[in-house]
Amino acid sequence: MGYNLRLQEPRIVIKGNQVTGPVWSLGVGFVVIAGPCAVESRDSLLEIAHLLAEEGVRIMRAGIFKPRTSPYSFRGLGEEALPMIAEAKERFGLSVVSEVMSPEDIPVMAQVVDMFQVGSRNMFNYRLLEAVGRAGKPVLLKRGMMASLREFLWSAEYIALEGERRIALCERGVRGFDTETRNLLDLSAVPLLKARTYLPVIVDPSHGTGRSELVIPMARAALAAGADGVMVEVHPDPSRALSDGPQALDFPGFRRLMSHLRELEGVVSRLKSSKED
Ligand code: PEP
Ligand code: MN
Repeated sequence: MGYNLRLQEPRIVIKGNQVTGPVWSLGVGFVVIAGPCAVESRDSLLEIAHLLAEEGVRIMRAGIFKPRTSPYSFRGLGEEALPMIAEAKERFGLSVVSEVMSPEDIPVMAQVVDMFQVGSRNMFNYRLLEAVGRAGKPVLLKRGMMASLREFLWSAEYIALEGERRIALCERGVRGFDTETRNLLDLSAVPLLKARTYLPVIVDPSHGTGRSELVIPMARAALAAGADGVMVEVHPDPSRALSDGPQALDFPGFRRLMSHLRELEGVVSRLKSSKED
């Protein structure tokens, strides 16, 4: 399954040694993963999927079970979201990544999800890491909000040791002292992780900043810093979103993001090839 999750040459490092075996890339060129924080309704999901297809995006994020800081916040539609996701995939040819919070949800989610996300709150949940490592699907591992890069890489290792080497590392910000932003997006993690592993590195400027007006500039910075892609939240009407509205791009904002990234990607790849030769 999955149009973009192509197997490629070995890229992972385990305990300092390059391990042979099938590893992967998320797609060709700079990859954009986008979609709602959580699936809210069939109509809004199809609208978003349509936008993504129009913009050439191949991987949609779509929350089914949401880890919320307050138990009274919207916690996702759960299994009700599955047929909506299946329809959006079918109609628009998308792959889907979604967060798994508990090993027991893996079988039902696996019916529609192409890549399992382990969220920031669960980066240290070693039983969950082992379970996704055995689930037979690629994994998007998000950095814990208080995790060092070393701890982050050890968590990736838990997954890899169970056999799943198609892991993407996602920098999503760590706790800072300044309440202007939701998190402190650590872009220095990008070149450090790229230098230490063979894994794709994705940046999440939505959770990384918590503010929609910062998403485009930080996505551009992620591309310039050498990330393999970004993951962003999009909503048809962010002011009415059931979760994370303040950090969601609206549709014009998302189109603007894509146009900036397309233009910058050319500059960055020209720079890379002229300086590396
Ligand atoms: C998410 O991407 O849906 C999410 C909850 O992010 P994080 O785990 O980084 O907080
Ligand atoms: Mn969110």
